[in-house]
Amino acid sequence: PLSPEAALVDSLITTIPNFPEPGIDFRDLTPVFADGPALAALARGLVAPFEGRFDHIGGLEARGFLIAGAASVVSGAGVLSVRKAGKLPRAVLSQEYALEYGTAALEVHIGQLPPESRVLIVDDVLATGGTALAAANLIERAGWRVAGIAVALELGGLGGRARLEGRGIETFSLLTY
Ligand code: AMP
Repeated sequence: PLSPEAALVDSLITTIPNFPEPGIDFRDLTPVFADGPALAALARGLVAPFEGRFDHIGGLEARGFLIAGAASVVSGAGVLSVRKAGKLPRAVLSQEYALEYGTAALEVHIGQLPPESRVLIVDDVLATGGTALAAANLIERAGWRVAGIAVALELGGLGGRARLEGRGIETFSLLTY
């Protein structure tokens, strides 16, 4: 049985078959973001399991930013911007990760947070875990600590959770499909 918060979010997630390519069921959370009470419920649901154990919210560009902003307001913790390559204006630390075809990179500003800051990483969907793991590596290389990873939706069977937990990273999802 889902919590009321999870049930509300679940009722708004829309599945688009064959987007962005044939065979992929795209899980669209824009209806959740467009619904004020649902976005607030999502933010509360993601920070609650980590209460008192994080200092900052690490938002992953771009959909993670929306969740991070809401989670910041409900928790009082500020947001660490984890951006795609080439967007941040000051000196950055960069972490490459594999995509289905080629590679991508995430970046943070060096010295953005005090040393040892505990960062809760948030995103909309956890699939293979490659993105979240790259963010975790980046945060650790920057001298901060990963409090955990919290996502709205985990796609079970793609191995994301096992990959993250294998690295000792606490992983929470409001929903699993
Ligand atoms: P991964 O690195 O494989 O865990 O993929 C996670 C990233 O890709 C997240 O930032 C998601 O927003 C996005 N993503 C992966 N699969 C899906 C999907 N089926 N529907 C929506 N977004 C997805």
